Amino acid sequence: MALRFFNTLTRSLDDFRPLDPGGKHVGLYTCGPTVYDYAHIGNFRAFTFEDLLRRWLAYKGYDVLHVMNITDVEDKIIRKVCETGEPMKQLTERYTVSFLEDCRALNVLPPQHMPRATGHIPEMLRLIGVLMEKGVAYQAADKSVYFSITKFPHYGQLKKIDAGQMRPGARVKQDEYEKESVADFALWKAWDEADGDIAWDSPWGRGRPGWHIECSAMSMKYLGESFDLHCGGEDLVFPHHEDEIAQSEAATGKPFVRYWLHCAYLLVNGQKMSKRFGNFFTLRDLLAKGYTGRELRYTLISEHYRRPLNFTIEGLDGARSSLARIDEFLVKLQDAAGSSSSDSSDLSAVARVTAEFESALDDDLNISAALGVLFNFIRDTNKRLASNAVAPAEAAAMLQAWQRFDTVLGLGMPQRGAAPPEVVALAEQRQAARKAKDFKRADALRDELKSRGWVIEDTPAGPKLKKL
Ligand SMILES: [Zn+2]
Repeated sequence: MALRFFNTLTRSLDDFRPLDPGGKHVGLYTCGPTVYDYAHIGNFRAFTFEDLLRRWLAYKGYDVLHVMNITDVEDKIIRKVCETGEPMKQLTERYTVSFLEDCRALNVLPPQHMPRATGHIPEMLRLIGVLMEKGVAYQAADKSVYFSITKFPHYGQLKKIDAGQMRPGARVKQDEYEKESVADFALWKAWDEADGDIAWDSPWGRGRPGWHIECSAMSMKYLGESFDLHCGGEDLVFPHHEDEIAQSEAATGKPFVRYWLHCAYLLVNGQKMSKRFGNFFTLRDLLAKGYTGRELRYTLISEHYRRPLNFTIEGLDGARSSLARIDEFLVKLQDAAGSSSSDSSDLSAVARVTAEFESALDDDLNISAALGVLFNFIRDTNKRLASNAVAPAEAAAMLQAWQRFDTVLGLGMPQRGAAPPEVVALAEQRQAARKAKDFKRADALRDELKSRGWVIEDTPAGPKLKKL
C-alpha cells in the first residue's frame, strides 16, 4: 500500500507525494508551544503525534526538514506578563527551556529549526507589507492592520466555511476566536496600554504581530512558499490554520501547504481537561507521581491520532505493563541471539511482521494496528522461544528488525545490565534540574533513583549510572 494520510484540506485519505521532484525531501511545519506556562499532556499529544509522523517519514527514507516555531509573543503571554510583572523575555525563555526538557523526557526529536516569533518581526512586517500592497489588508481606525477575508475568495477552505457565514467588515482583534465570529483578523495589533513595553516599530505604527502571521512568516522562511506537511491539534484548524492559509496564499498566489494533518483532542477520565475539574496534568505532574516519560510517550502515541484519546492513570499503568512485556521479550531475544549474526536462517516471521507493521503505519499512521501487529508477533515468538524453536540467527534478525521499528516508536531497547530507560530518564531530568540550578528537584530525583537501586557518579566524562 502507498503511504497515505487523511488530509483536512481535502477531507479524504490522500496518497502522499512530496513536492520535491526527486521525491526525497519533505518539508514539515508543526505549530509549536506558546511559552507562557508548562505544556500540558493535551499539548503533548500533538507533539508526540507529530514526532511519530516525522519518524515514520524518516523510516520510509524521506529526508525530513522539520520546523517548529516557538510562539513567544501572543495575547496569553502578554496577559501573563501583565499579571506577574515578569519581563516577557525572561518568562518565555524559562518556559521554552522547560518545554524542551519535557520533549527530551518524551523522546520527541528536536526539529532542525526552532524559530522564535520575536526573532522574525522583519519577516512578518514584509509579509504584511505585501498583503497591504495587494489590497487584501487594511489599517482600521484603531490603527491595527487586518486581513480582509472577503478579498480572498478561498477563505474558509480548511474549516469549510461558506461565504454566507462571513460578515463583511466585522473585525476580530484577539488571536483566538470561534467559528461563529469569523471576521477580518488582525495581522498587526496597534499598541495599547495593556501591552506595556511590548511593541515594535512598523510602517503602521508601534505594535505587535498577530499570532497567525507569525506562523506564515516563519514557515515560509524555512520551508519555502509551498511545502508538504503542516500539523497541529484539531483546535488549530480554525482560526489559526485557516488564517495562515489566507495570509500566505493571498501574498504568494501559490498553494501554501499540500497536506494538513490534525490530531484529535485528549480527554482525562472522559472529561475535557481543565484546572477546574482537577484533571489537568502537565508532564511534570505525572513524573512526580513516579511515571516515566517513556510510559507517557507510549500512552500518548498508542491511540490513532485522529481518534480522541481518553487519558487515565489506569491507562498509564497499562502502558507500564505493555512496556515491561516488550522489554522482557527483547531481553529473551538477546539471550537467544547470543553473538549470532542475522544471516542464513528462515526469516519469514521477520519479513511478515515487518510488512504488516509497515502497511499499518502507511495507512494514515495507524499506530494502534501497528502495535497490535507487534504484540501478536511477541506472543507467537514467545511460544517458539519457549520450545527453543528460534535459531540464534533468526533471533538476531528479529532484534535487528525491532531496532528499526524502534526508530519509529522511540521507546528504546533494553540493554542487559544497563539502566532501564525510566532510570536513564530520571538521571537526565536530574541533570536538567542541576543545570537550571533547581537543586531541590535535583536532590529529590537523586533520592528517587536511589529508591530504584541506582546512584549517579559524576565522572570527567559526565554523570554515569551505577547499580547499588
Ligand atoms: Zn502556528
